[in-house]
Amino acid sequence: MNLPHDDRPTILVVDDERLNRNALAAMLGLEYRVLLAKDGPGALVHAQREAAQLQLILLDVSMPGMSGYEVLGALRADERTAGIAVIFITGQSDDAAEEYGLNLGAADYVSKPIRPAIVRVRVRNQIHLALQRRALERLAQIDGLTGLANRRHFDAQFERAWRRCERTGCPLGLALVDIDHFKQYNDRYGHVQGDEALRAVAQTLQAHARRPDDLAARIGGEEFTLLMPGDESLVQRIEDFRQAVVAQAIAHADSSVGPTLTVSCGLVVARQLEHITPTGLLQKADALLYTAKSQGRNRTVAWTQS
Ligand SMILES: [Mg+2]
Repeated sequence: MNLPHDDRPTILVVDDERLNRNALAAMLGLEYRVLLAKDGPGALVHAQREAAQLQLILLDVSMPGMSGYEVLGALRADERTAGIAVIFITGQSDDAAEEYGLNLGAADYVSKPIRPAIVRVRVRNQIHLALQRRALERLAQIDGLTGLANRRHFDAQFERAWRRCERTGCPLGLALVDIDHFKQYNDRYGHVQGDEALRAVAQTLQAHARRPDDLAARIGGEEFTLLMPGDESLVQRIEDFRQAVVAQAIAHADSSVGPTLTVSCGLVVARQLEHITPTGLLQKADALLYTAKSQGRNRTVAWTQS
């Protein structure tokens, strides 16, 4: 049984023989959260459902129906599970089988009869690598200055949100945000303070990314975006954000808008994704942002697809 908030690394053990499953679970259960599957299809169900938490799969090669090799192929073919490390468990100790499995993309090999000390070391090595990989992936998704998502991560999440909303029919909201007269701000106050202002706006934007699927990102120098799948009150939310920036009262003596730092926002809420493309949606948001700028800045211009 797993505790509700078990944050230990998760391992999936796949073996058609119950004795092997139980032995491995007993061997690893103190250090790790262990899931069990007795065949290939069961393994794939677990892997897909737990992909975000799953660091390692111990996979028996020889199982009736679907072999371990086939399971690995199916894991690699699914983007959700493609990155999960796999250690093969095999009774065949010949080099050819080992080479075959490693060529398929297995991270390592353990052979039966299982020697607990060897299993523990190999598992620990792979878990260590998997955690490092995840940490690096997270770093590669973050804008170093503000801590928001970076452009690359935004692009990937935008595509994902698009596909999900297309499938479920939920609306997709996208706001583009630009700090007004930011060049003049930097010229007057210097880049160090300019960076402070970027961080302050980023923090305020992040505070308005309220739901788990919302994503606040920095996509250019002083340009941000808020991606909001499936909401109904987006105009109000972006307006709240804009006013929260005003309320921060960051002095901007060279702004034509007023005495403090402000932002302009272009917001698109798409309801029928079949009538628009991702690029079209971004261009629309950009055009609305431009309109907000030309109408005097410090405002939101929104368009909701009817
Ligand atoms: Mg077997």
